[in-house]
Amino acid sequence: MIRTMRAAVLHKAGGPDVFRIEDVPVPVAGRDDVLLKVEACGVSYRDVVERNGTYRRDVSFPCIIGLEIAGTVVETGADVEGLAVGDRVCTKAFSSCGRCRLCRNGRETTCARRKPISGGYAEYVAVPQDSVVRIPQELGADIACSLGPAAGVALNAVRDVAKVRIGETVLITGATGGVGVPSMQIAKASGARVIAITRSLQKAKTLRDLGASDVVIAETGENFAPRVRELTKGQGVDVVIDNVGSAVFDASYDSLAVHGRYAMVGQLFGEEVSINPARIFFKRAKILGVGSVSRTQLEDTIVLAEWGIVKPNIASRLPLEDVATAHELVEGGAVNGRVVLIP
Ligand SMILES: [Zn+2]
Repeated sequence: MIRTMRAAVLHKAGGPDVFRIEDVPVPVAGRDDVLLKVEACGVSYRDVVERNGTYRRDVSFPCIIGLEIAGTVVETGADVEGLAVGDRVCTKAFSSCGRCRLCRNGRETTCARRKPISGGYAEYVAVPQDSVVRIPQELGADIACSLGPAAGVALNAVRDVAKVRIGETVLITGATGGVGVPSMQIAKASGARVIAITRSLQKAKTLRDLGASDVVIAETGENFAPRVRELTKGQGVDVVIDNVGSAVFDASYDSLAVHGRYAMVGQLFGEEVSINPARIFFKRAKILGVGSVSRTQLEDTIVLAEWGIVKPNIASRLPLEDVATAHELVEGGAVNGRVVLIP
């Protein structure tokens, strides 16, 4: 007997209305997989660019997207260890082999056998055991689903790459976004002063509520560095956590103090940046790349969520049938917080 489930299927790239809600076979868990009953799936900007065709890597049609998944294990493959039916879990954005040199050195995010996770826009999804981490029974699925791909990346950026310390000042771009919000919460919990950059006056109060000491409102392309310098007695910031990339690079780099660390987390637009190398050595700057999240970092992020330090700001919980609305909200950028599908 073939079991079926409801899923939001993409047959081609296009606008938010391109999803089709269909009955499709429940995925079969391979030897190394767990089958999850999806409790919640976050909708991120990454999902938007997969749907609209901007992001093509690893995407072929028809497909079911969605990588920010929280759910309950309902079946385990023959080789699965340490996970049982009934366990609740959340995903990181990929699985890795666990055995190569990179995996064994805590560098699993660059494992050559890394495979992306998808399929969360459905009632069930099969994912490799390496991609999931157990969550406590009392943690809400709407909170847990984004801990890996969003808050975990923020922990990686703030704690492990930029190494933010007490008494430092941290500038966060794209502060209202999925990685921006937990970046603020983690930087604040580390004892840092947080300066948030946003385009929206309406979001300024939310950002202060979420932990920003100061909020600078700037249009895309506007040079906000003079205002950041004013807020830091002319010194600039010790750390930049940049979730936006090229559109804010010049102003953010200009805001960086001497000996500052610039953590590059996101690139929302396709443009190049140009910089005179002298600006890097005169400033003694460190430019650092941040990518994804390891299992250990995700486990630590789950603890921070239990402690209330990481609190995803959820604006909207929608049923799977409202996937088009969910994408309109995320793509439009007007929504004040995260959008979560509850299949
Ligand atoms: Zn590996």
